[in-house]
Amino acid sequence: MKHLILSDIHGNLEALRAVLDDADPGSFDSIICLGDCVGYGASPNECVCTLRELPHMSAVLGNHDSAVVNRSERNYLNPVAVAGIEHSDRELDGDGRRFLESLPMVIDSDPNTIFVHASPFRPEKWVYVMDPMDAADAFQVMSHSVAFIGHTHFPAIYSDSGTVEKFAAGAKVPLGVNGKRIINVGSVGQPRDGDPRAAYVVFDDEERRAEMVRVSYDIDTAAKKILDAGLPPMLADRLRRGY
Ligand code: ZN
Repeated sequence: MKHLILSDIHGNLEALRAVLDDADPGSFDSIICLGDCVGYGASPNECVCTLRELPHMSAVLGNHDSAVVNRSERNYLNPVAVAGIEHSDRELDGDGRRFLESLPMVIDSDPNTIFVHASPFRPEKWVYVMDPMDAADAFQVMSHSVAFIGHTHFPAIYSDSGTVEKFAAGAKVPLGVNGKRIINVGSVGQPRDGDPRAAYVVFDDEERRAEMVRVSYDIDTAAKKILDAGLPPMLADRLRRGY
């Protein structure tokens, strides 16, 4: 099966549309969103609607999604993030809210592959996998050979031999040949690796291969909508910097 994997859309409709135009969702057997559909960006409801209309789509819960539907989770977020959560809370309609409430923490029905927002290690704690030590905790609890994650907005490949490398645009990575891998698929709506282009991953589970794709989008419009919505200006600036 061929999977289209998206993460951290963060209410950026312009980036999401560019990804879907580029990827052609109808050509995939499944579409998986790794969470954080909302927060930060100006168009959370439109992003959730667009996502829900996709064929064969499943998604897991992200920490921003959770904070929209559970007020107590906002205590752990910084003021800029909370501004995005409150905006999402105001914008989301009933169907969008019920969609977020319905999301599972993990998708692990395939014995080889697990999909989760933050880390396979205590997913509900939203642990950041930033280095080989964080990854080692996750590998310890992983029965699957591959985990696809988001959360840091930094595309990277961790192996259980202790290596980490950036998952660069255009890279095609063989998976499950030797040992385990954790793949961070980067972010559609708020990349933080210095490349402002939206990121997505194509995963072929028969060939056991993942490919990183980056696509340009209309950053000016996404940034203007953030300012027009009264959100913190740094959320618009960082889209241009990709950080
Ligand atoms: Zn995020």
